[in-house]
Parts: sequence; structure tokens; C-alpha cells
Amino acid sequence: MKEIPSIEEIKQHLESYPSVTKADAELHAERIREILEIKKKHNVVILGHNYMEPLVFECSEEQERGDSYGLSEYAARTDADIIVFNGVRFMAETAKVLNPEKKVLIADRTAGCSLADNFTAENVKELKQKHPGVPVMIYINSYADAKAESDVVCTSANAAKIAKKLPGNKVIFVPDILFAQNLAEELRGVKEIIYPEEGRGAICEVHEKFSIEDINAVRKSFEIPKGHPKRMIYAHWECRPEVLREADFYGSTTQIRKDIAERVSKGMLEKAFVASECELTSNLAAEFPQVQFYTACSVRCSHMAKITIEKLHRLMKAIDSGEDLSEWEVALPEEVIEKARKPIEKMLELGR
Ligand code: SF4
Repeated sequence: MKEIPSIEEIKQHLESYPSVTKADAELHAERIREILEIKKKHNVVILGHNYMEPLVFECSEEQERGDSYGLSEYAARTDADIIVFNGVRFMAETAKVLNPEKKVLIADRTAGCSLADNFTAENVKELKQKHPGVPVMIYINSYADAKAESDVVCTSANAAKIAKKLPGNKVIFVPDILFAQNLAEELRGVKEIIYPEEGRGAICEVHEKFSIEDINAVRKSFEIPKGHPKRMIYAHWECRPEVLREADFYGSTTQIRKDIAERVSKGMLEKAFVASECELTSNLAAEFPQVQFYTACSVRCSHMAKITIEKLHRLMKAIDSGEDLSEWEVALPEEVIEKARKPIEKMLELGR
């Protein structure tokens, strides 16, 4: 773990995020430093999902930040005694499945997800009965008991790759209907993607908000014409198919970040709009100040937003004082851990 920055250094760094005001930096720098001190003292790893607000994101070191896939890989090899997951509950469950002997904590256990919350283990069983013998690939945005009924887990970064490696010419993909439609288009002629009917699957309530009209308006208002060599519209896999078709690049958050980094290194990016959660753009803007980013800050995930710096601070103080941590602990029945580990490990093997 690197040296803890001073309060002044924390303030300066916080101010590099466009959405953090000077007053926010003043108010929270001391609290962040205290979190970092407790983190070091108790050998805690603080995993930070890309959609965390900057004040919370700041508590994770570079290697502790990422999307669901990067963080689950990191969780699988951490030697920390305690894992604090700054993300939503299904992510913390994945970390628990991979680290059953460790304490996995989340600052607010009610932080859900419209995908995970609306598709259960029973729904997976129903689809398996309807399509016997077809492998089930489940998006990581699901709870451990639903994963336990599936053959392999995937993330947006590796879904296409894993689907291609599964046996047979059909794959059941759950629960995200829009992502499934995008995947079906991507794998046309290679694999048939079977997914839940309208009303029986789920969608990401954040990414589905972007319409083709929004993308056209962004192109016009921010002068990002299609095909411009240095101006880009990015879209996440969970957006509507027509949005993906219109975007200049689509992928997972890690793939989007990677494309931005490559373009920046070649001096090939001056303006960008990312059709995804708005704090992702805040965090990208701090990392790549050379690029003019435009945000859609009404598009905030209310579940991710439940993880605040105040709640994280309270949790870290409880760790430090040796309090009972059950309020924050992510616990799962042993048999669910056992069964869910296999499809997650399969993802780690096939997704490489
Ligand atoms: S952004 Fe969408 S997929 Fe991610 S946690 Fe929020 S609701 Fe779930």
C-alpha cells in the first residue's frame, strides 16, 4: 500500500474532478485521510467501482478500481484481511464467493441493481427447463443464488468472447434483455442468443434511458459529428441496440476507458460523450484532463449513489474500533458459495 497522501494533497487531487467543488474538497479531505489510515492499519482492500462518486472513488488505489470483471479478478487474488466493496450488493456477493474465508463488507447493504433485483434463481431454472441442454451464461449483475444455477458468469467485457467458447450453437443469456439483443447482433451467424421474453427479464434502468434522439441531440449540441477523427460518442453494452449502432465505439467501461487512453496517447481525442452512468464520466474527466467530456448527470444510478463517503467513513470507524460489523457484512449460505463459485471461476478461465 502506498504512502497516505497529506490532507493538502487529497484536496488538490479532489479538485481535479469536475464534479467536486472546492467546498466538497475542504469538507471531506480529512475524512478521506482518516479512511486511508484505517485501511492501512487493518489491511483492508477498498474496491471501487467506476460508477462511484469521486469522494468515494478516491479511497481506492489505482489497482483497486475498475468494472465488475476487473474487481472480481482483483478480489480473487487479494491478500487483504477485509474487503470493503464500494459498489452494489451483487458485486460484494461475488467478492464473498471468491473469498469465503474473508470478511466482505459494503457501506450500504440495500444498494441493489435493477438487473440483479429483477431476476431470480427460479427464473434461471424456468429457462433451463424450457431449453434443456443449452448452456446458461449469466451476467455478473445478478445475485449469487441465480449465479449458482448457471453454467458460466460473464461481464460486459467478456460476454461475446465467452459465448463463442461455450459448446453448441445456442447460449441462454440472462438477465439483461437489451444487452442480450446487442450480443445477438454481435454474434449473428456464430451463436444464437436465447434470452428472457419482454417482461420476464430485466434491464439496466440507467443505460436504457439513453435514446437515439439523445444521441442525435448530443452530436448536434456538442459538435460531435459521426466519423470525426477526434470526437467520439461511446456507449455501454447495456444501452439500446439503436444507441449502440449510432455510437462511434461501444463496449464495457474498461474497454471504453482503454480506447480513450489509447486515443489520448496518440493525441486523437478532443471531445467525448459517454452514454453511461454520469460518475463514470466524472472519473474519466479527472483522469484525462486533455479531453473535453460532456455528461448526462441526470443519468445517475440510484443504487450506486447509496454508497456515500459518510457511510463509508462510518463503516471504517467501526472496523477501527472493533465494533460488531454485521450491519455491513455480506454473508451467504455455504452451499450457495460452493455452487456459485464454479460459474465465476469458469468466467475467470474462459474470459482471459
Ligand atoms: S448502472 Fe444499471 S447495471 Fe449498474 S448497478 Fe445501476 S442499475 Fe445495475
